[in-house]
Amino acid sequence: MQAVPIILASMLAMTAIIAVRYLLSSGGFALATRLVRPGLYQGQGGQIGREVRWSLLSALVFGLPAGLVAWGWQNRGWTLIYTDLHAWPLWYLPLSVLAYLAAHDSWFYWTHRLMHRPALFRVAHAVHHASRPPTAWAAMSFHPWEALTGAVVIPVLVFLIPIHVAALGLVLTIMTVMGVTNHMGWEMFPRWLVRGRLGDWLITASHHQRHHEQYQCNYGLYFRVWDRLCGTDRGLSGDFAAPPAARKG
Ligand SMILES: [Zn+2]
Ligand SMILES: [Zn+2]
Repeated sequence: MQAVPIILASMLAMTAIIAVRYLLSSGGFALATRLVRPGLYQGQGGQIGREVRWSLLSALVFGLPAGLVAWGWQNRGWTLIYTDLHAWPLWYLPLSVLAYLAAHDSWFYWTHRLMHRPALFRVAHAVHHASRPPTAWAAMSFHPWEALTGAVVIPVLVFLIPIHVAALGLVLTIMTVMGVTNHMGWEMFPRWLVRGRLGDWLITASHHQRHHEQYQCNYGLYFRVWDRLCGTDRGLSGDFAAPPAARKG
């Protein structure tokens, strides 16, 4: 029982880390947006305020399971996270990163599709789509029910798939950066990547923007595999690559 206060402290610490990570990453890309697309978020101050408040609440929902698992990893030998680089062959490092991204992507695709059923949409997912169009601050703008579906992913995966602590750090970095940039309203990756062979299979802002425009398509997170397999891929946002002056609305 004396572990309870330490577990609570670990949960609070994780919440604080996730909140600061959100503020720095979303704040950083919001600043970049000011420089690259001045005026893109004009008139969206009220919406940004709501995005920040929902996101900070999500940081708490993400922090609770993350804090519990981090405590168990440090104090009880839980999880398959390893620190000795040679505990597994080196080729396993990139494979483990890919496995985490693929697993998260699959979970996200199907839970996301489910949350677009009308009843669940109202309860869990309407908050995220209240951002029209989303900004860099919408990265974690979820209702707590939706946040919960995302918050359990990594804490469960670390019990199922071995991963080096640095590779896990990379997974979390990719998760954070893509979560922000997919919502920031402009494409940061070069055209040859987004409109080329690689872009046929990878999800960047141009793809997720179309989800926010049309709702019933482009449900994926990192890869277009599930969307293509299930016929829900409607390609990239049309007027998205154009300069702000040419954008509709
Ligand atoms: Zn979104
Ligand atoms: Zn959606």
